Amino acid sequence: MQKTHHTQLLIIGSGPAGYTAAVYGSRAMLNPSLIQGIQPGGQLTITTEVENWPGIKEVQGPDLMLQMEEHARVTGTKIFSDHISGIDLQSRPFKAVGDSETIYTCDALILATGAQAKWLGIDSETFFKGFGVSACATCDGFFYKNKEIVVIGGGNTAVEEALFLTNFASKVTLIHRRDNLRAEKILQHRLFNNKKIEVLWLHEVDEILGQQTPRSVESIVVKNVKTNVKTNIPCAGVFVAIGHAPASELVCEQVDTHLGGYVVTKPDSTETSVRGVFAAGDLTDHLYRQAVTSAGMGCMAALEAEKFLSDS
Ligand code: FAD
Ligand code: NAP
Repeated sequence: MQKTHHTQLLIIGSGPAGYTAAVYGSRAMLNPSLIQGIQPGGQLTITTEVENWPGIKEVQGPDLMLQMEEHARVTGTKIFSDHISGIDLQSRPFKAVGDSETIYTCDALILATGAQAKWLGIDSETFFKGFGVSACATCDGFFYKNKEIVVIGGGNTAVEEALFLTNFASKVTLIHRRDNLRAEKILQHRLFNNKKIEVLWLHEVDEILGQQTPRSVESIVVKNVKTNVKTNIPCAGVFVAIGHAPASELVCEQVDTHLGGYVVTKPDSTETSVRGVFAAGDLTDHLYRQAVTSAGMGCMAALEAEKFLSDS
């Protein structure tokens, strides 16, 4: 049966941005409600060590996010395990419809839906997704004990995934389309000093090959971007780590977006093009995309929502 739940402040998303907005919103006595989505805790739940959250030298990503959830809960946020599939920002109260069929209405809204992994977009990747092709080393690395695997990408995620996968694999080949990495220097240092890892520069993925039944990966064909020469690399697993795209499908027709879907916010603010709707975290940030910057924007969004509610 359809239920309606009204709240002054609704927060969509349970990553660092959403939970931080929840803590600040609760402490401002706004009695916020937060919708967790299908990834409670957000992107940090699919990584292992987080070493750049100030105040804690090292913490497991999933543990950090459980602590944030608990913090939001004890300060007074009502947390819903639901996923929003439709939204109406035409007039206030704003309306969001959950998969549970609950209709959430609110006077102010914070969008904190973060980002999702990008894929290469080739047919063989789609065919083997879940059968040897993955975008999450912490979720699937265990299946590749003593096997050879490849990681695609040159950012922090690719390097961290390659390092993590050496816990299981006999060999990891990092395949990157350029001849230098954009990953942090400390991660690059660890990568280059790991004997199980080989880096293949200036190569792009052409095709992933394997068995149809049972569906499994056997090798990857890569192409030198300068010479177009193709090479076949035997491997049992392909980890795609080529970045993330903002999860803005829900709102892209109702608020202004730019740069491939990032929600536009006003300078020095989390205000979107719709009055009363604020956006925080990776959903709006094409530059930094860090837990701490997302949390900072979550704080700003809650403070701005509080001001908006008291002025209106
Ligand atoms: P996210 O963490 O992306 O969370 C988005 C939330 O929105 C999720 O809870 C999801 O369920 C929810 N959601 C989405 N759509 C809907 C919907 N329709 N309805 C309801 N809910 C919805 N950063 C660091 O600072 N340090 C690190 O060590 C680090 N390691 C990383 C390792 C990996 C493998 C990855 C992928 C990223 C890492 N990052 C790291 C980046 C960091 O995770 C992100 O910058 C941060 O999580 C972004 O927070 P966010 O709150 O904006 O969104
Ligand atoms: P990213 O920094 O955007 O890097 C994506 C990488 O994939 C780049 O090297 C890019 O190549 C490559 N790439 C993109 N499209 C490709 C394609 N079609 N084919 C082949 N290669 C492709 O993404 P990310 O590594 O996922 O990181 C996202 C954000 O999260 C970053 O801000 C990062 O700092 C943060 N993060 C932080 C940590 C940490 O702090 N420890 C860990 C993980 C992630 P080019 O280099 O040629 O563009």
